Amino acid sequence: MTDQDKIALLSDLVAINTVADHEKKIAVYLQDYFAQHGIDSKLVDVAPNRANLIAEIGDGKGPVLAFAGHLDTVHEGDFNTWDTDPFTLNIQNDKLFGRGVTDMKGGLAAFVIAFMELHDRHEPLHGTLRFIATADEEKNELGADKLAAEGYLTDIDAVIIGEPTGVALNEISEYFTSGGAVIDPSTLKKLQQAAVTSKAAEQHFIFFAHKGFLAYDVTATGKAAHSSMPKLGVDAINHLVQYYQAEQTLYDTLPEESPILAKTMRGANIIQGGAQQNSVSDLATLTELTRTIPELPAQTLIERLQALIANLNQGDETMNLSLHVNAYDDAVVTPRDSQLIKIVQDIIPNYLIEPMVAPTIAVSLGTDAAAFVHANPNVQLAIIGPGNTTAHKANEYVSQQAYFAMVDIYREVAKQYLK
Ligand SMILES: [Zn+2]
Repeated sequence: MTDQDKIALLSDLVAINTVADHEKKIAVYLQDYFAQHGIDSKLVDVAPNRANLIAEIGDGKGPVLAFAGHLDTVHEGDFNTWDTDPFTLNIQNDKLFGRGVTDMKGGLAAFVIAFMELHDRHEPLHGTLRFIATADEEKNELGADKLAAEGYLTDIDAVIIGEPTGVALNEISEYFTSGGAVIDPSTLKKLQQAAVTSKAAEQHFIFFAHKGFLAYDVTATGKAAHSSMPKLGVDAINHLVQYYQAEQTLYDTLPEESPILAKTMRGANIIQGGAQQNSVSDLATLTELTRTIPELPAQTLIERLQALIANLNQGDETMNLSLHVNAYDDAVVTPRDSQLIKIVQDIIPNYLIEPMVAPTIAVSLGTDAAAFVHANPNVQLAIIGPGNTTAHKANEYVSQQAYFAMVDIYREVAKQYLK
């Protein structure tokens, strides 16, 4: 496949708006694309206008390797913060701009091309290579859940997820101090030294582990009163603020720490309360997304939050706090020296010259990997893909060079793993 064809595919994917919906349009587009090369694929509906896509090649007589990616993107945000139209691929030197190019239409396109090249060149694959594209990864992971429920993930021995894992060299220190990722300190030192003389723009990593999450609301219910007679009311905002501070202390003093994923990370991101200036507030709500570690799973954390709430409610008879859990999922920790990761690291230097050969790191963000690990706790995992930390931001871009390199890396890894 020519470089022009690779750009054209990514350009088409960007032009199909899949902001948290309409993934079926891309799934159908890719189904046609595969069909033109004689590859059968299957749509798995998730909801109206939303579908996953599955395709397979190989002799079926060996292990199962999956290429997995998602079809949806996050919202483009304020149009005016973009320098170019987010739904038109814009090329400036090595940078390809557009919503989703990094997260993760670039990785998805690289999987599609690698898959087709293996098929078109009649590469012998001992086993099964399964292409999996999911809907709704960014919100509720409904697509991956559907595939898990229908058994598409159970027999998978190894999976590459093409989420963006690149970091611009001048952002590396900040990346690891941000709390977003955990790296072995001696590896970081080596990397920083090698970055000084490197001609590369980015360093790509392999994620082998990531935090889980717990999404919940805490609500304080009070009693409204005219603000000139506050003693007749119960101030919900005041009670929620007391809770907020007590919860901060709870998080600050958690004894659990993971050798791989570090500490539980609190995200108290939305606070809402009150209805008008001249009334005592009768309702206030805190909405949180906490990032969890295996040493303190969501269930245990929920128990501690409930105990904290019970304690505060007991200490003040007007206090009426309650917890509502919205969703949670486990942290993912897989072997960092698996056969799959070794193969990826062996192949990378042939296509991508960077300060180091894709060091393995653990990150705080979530991916569809949890569904694969639930389906097979022994699954080998390597999250690696083109793209960088511009995910979810305006002027998101992917390096053309990294995108092209990843096509070759994915293809060669599949050949090697399914030898
Ligand atoms: Zn993503």
